[in-house]
Amino acid sequence: MDPSLQSTRDSQIYNEGLIFERSMAGRVAFSLPDDDRDLSTSIDSSLIRPADDLHLPEVGELDVIRHFTRLSTWNYNIDMNLYPLGSCTMKYNPRINEEIAALPGFTSIHPDLPEKYNQPLLEVLYKTQDLLCKLTDMDGATLQPAAGAHGELAGLYMIYAAMEKRGEKRDTILIPDSAHGTNPASCTLAGFKVKQVKSREDGLLDVEDIRASLDSSIAGLMITNPSTLGIFEQNIRVIADMLHENGSLLYMDGANYNAIIGNTSLKEMGVDISHLNLHKTFSTPHGGGGPGAAAVVVSGEMVDFLPDPVVDRRDDGSFCWKRPEHTIGRMKAGPGHSGIALRALSYMLTWGNQIHEVAEHSVLNANLVRHLLKDDYQIASDQDTMHEAVFSDASFKKSGFTTLDVAKSLIDYGYHPPTVFFPLNVSGAMMIEPTETESPERIRHFTQVMKDIKKRMDAGDQTLKDSPVRAFATRVDEVRAARNPVLNHFKRESGK
Ligand SMILES: *Cc1c(COP(=O)(O)O)cnc(C)c1O
Repeated sequence: MDPSLQSTRDSQIYNEGLIFERSMAGRVAFSLPDDDRDLSTSIDSSLIRPADDLHLPEVGELDVIRHFTRLSTWNYNIDMNLYPLGSCTMKYNPRINEEIAALPGFTSIHPDLPEKYNQPLLEVLYKTQDLLCKLTDMDGATLQPAAGAHGELAGLYMIYAAMEKRGEKRDTILIPDSAHGTNPASCTLAGFKVKQVKSREDGLLDVEDIRASLDSSIAGLMITNPSTLGIFEQNIRVIADMLHENGSLLYMDGANYNAIIGNTSLKEMGVDISHLNLHKTFSTPHGGGGPGAAAVVVSGEMVDFLPDPVVDRRDDGSFCWKRPEHTIGRMKAGPGHSGIALRALSYMLTWGNQIHEVAEHSVLNANLVRHLLKDDYQIASDQDTMHEAVFSDASFKKSGFTTLDVAKSLIDYGYHPPTVFFPLNVSGAMMIEPTETESPERIRHFTQVMKDIKKRMDAGDQTLKDSPVRAFATRVDEVRAARNPVLNHFKRESGK
């Protein structure tokens, strides 16, 4: 079959070109009646750009509509199917939170209005801060950071500021090898040195190894909890006490808070600073490059170091901006992504005191995946998992297949691949996070597909190596794509 004749209805197969490739000289999407048309008489000619300079596609209106409608169906999304991308919490976000965020009273208010006119938005931000503090059992919060990694940076600046205020020069942060990749990157960006601590065979931290690493250069420890292996760090309190005794602080990466929400107290764990990804746990659809947001929650003395400003409530009940005493300054212009805070508030209020069920279902679902796949794929750790299940390539490596073959094959069955080759301490890792919003039936379907792929690998089915074959882009040369990216259509045309 000539691929250019394939059905336009099979959106996974139909290859939609660039809109520039549809361009026909002189074709336009919109025209005005002749008598209205001559704008050049009313616009100073020096302001009119030569039309042939623009490199715009010349297409009809219907071409535009079809092009973008088709492209929109290419985007794998949670409304279409389970999205098992580990550590990303690609869960369904209830529409009600979108409805609330779209209320005209909120969409048309500017966060920088004078306080007097801005009370409704300040109230939203205050209540979001307040509920996040209650949920984590912490003392203060900021909603300024634009994403999880930006929250980490804010937290590390706060650690730096706290050390500076104490008059101490501590320049090193300890990071376990089971941490999310952004953790060491944020440390480096904040000007800290990173010292790695190893996790044990069972995925937990080696308390003695940490004890041995503590000295007067250690500003803090940054731990992802639950870790990228999906494991809750059982010794976190012991570790926190050790750190505090050494004058160091504990930063907990809480991006995976959906695993423990409503069931835990960060204060009891001894955490000083933590960030929560509002776009993962607290209902903001993500994955398409839209805005995210992180809240950073802090305890005790760290409240005074929060970014400027936070929202406070006056004795008369009105809301106001407040500058924390030893603030690290602004992380961002404005109060952060207030629309995301609004979704988070709506999410927390619609769950109310049942919100612990989110965690219970996320853990249940991940363990269902683990249980259903354990005879086919090698589980990375014997510990019970929280929100995600990590498998290694041990059960199929010998047959000549790789984790990439499994991931690419999933596309042919209509599933997005899981996170692969991460965490780094697991050979050929596959990190599957089903999230709390999937039904057991959907999870069973997904695991049956995984089992089928395993069966085909066992049988030496070499067609898996060519997968995906049912997608418009088949197996791409990832090395060439990374080393030799051609990102500009006109360069591609001219071969440069
Ligand atoms: C997603 C994630 C991050 C980074 O969050 P971004 O919003 O993508 O910057 C950090 N840590 C963990 C554990 C995560 O899962």
